[in-house]
Amino acid sequence: MPEAPELGSLQLAWLEELGLDRRLLSRYTVRTETAPAQETPKQAGSPEAAHIPGVAAGDAASSAPAADSASTRDGVAAARGLLRSLLGKKDAAPLPLPAVPEDRPSAKTTEAAPEPGTLDALRHAVLHCQACALHQDRGTGVFGEGNTQSPAWLVIGEAPGTMDDRVGAPFQGRSGELLRAMLKAAGADASADVFFTNVVKCRPIANRPPVAEEVAQCGLHLRSQVALLQPGRILALGRVAAAALTGQDADLESLRGKVWQYECVSGRRIPVIATYHPGWLLTHPYHKAGAWQDLRLARDLGKD
Ligand code: SF4
Repeated sequence: MPEAPELGSLQLAWLEELGLDRRLLSRYTVRTETAPAQETPKQAGSPEAAHIPGVAAGDAASSAPAADSASTRDGVAAARGLLRSLLGKKDAAPLPLPAVPEDRPSAKTTEAAPEPGTLDALRHAVLHCQACALHQDRGTGVFGEGNTQSPAWLVIGEAPGTMDDRVGAPFQGRSGELLRAMLKAAGADASADVFFTNVVKCRPIANRPPVAEEVAQCGLHLRSQVALLQPGRILALGRVAAAALTGQDADLESLRGKVWQYECVSGRRIPVIATYHPGWLLTHPYHKAGAWQDLRLARDLGKD
């Protein structure tokens, strides 16, 4: 029988803070550790706070007899206190679960179906959709949000991210902040002039790009959404969205710098500009100048 692996008390506290099941953690032996005295609190989010001591993978390889002594409990309490001081009081509490959108599907839901042919009906259909395998792992479908009355801008990304999937709204987090700042620089008020959505409405696991079948299936929702929104222009973020909106199976660079036309089901042609996804710009900031050129091209549409 292999001996049970050992966890440092700080590791245990950290894993509990992360929400790991205590029954799972009970399989590990806890090693008491002494918390450093007078540790200077670090700001949450700083490099120091991000590196939690005692979580190195090699630590768990050693073993020791199981123990549930008072000293172990003291060690855990000390470690938890240290952890809270490292993270700062505000962030030490367990992360609250995000609010569940009111129209999230539920077995107990008995709400009346919205009027057919409306955005509400389409939202309802998306949130209950099981047309592709992505529904199996989603937290919630992400329909989109923003101005629904012929917005000047319809901004379309690739797929919801992890935070979007929890909150039920697109472009959460740092990439969303960057996107809104870029739009503001182009004269678009994100809260008044824009509707935000994605090509596929359910998050692919591990944030992988959606595959062609998923894009094709969810593209039916997108087509209805564009027809109902009737935006002034479409900004396609990243290669997947650019290819889907222009109908071109090409790389993003060859799709940028041009005004494409998206033909709506009504026959109306809506201009499309392709640019970088803000998530890409966060890791490749040298493309921001190119993104700014794209946004100016989109901003100036219809000025002539
Ligand atoms: Fe339906 Fe789109 Fe979700 Fe697939 S990704 S289940 S097509 S809403």
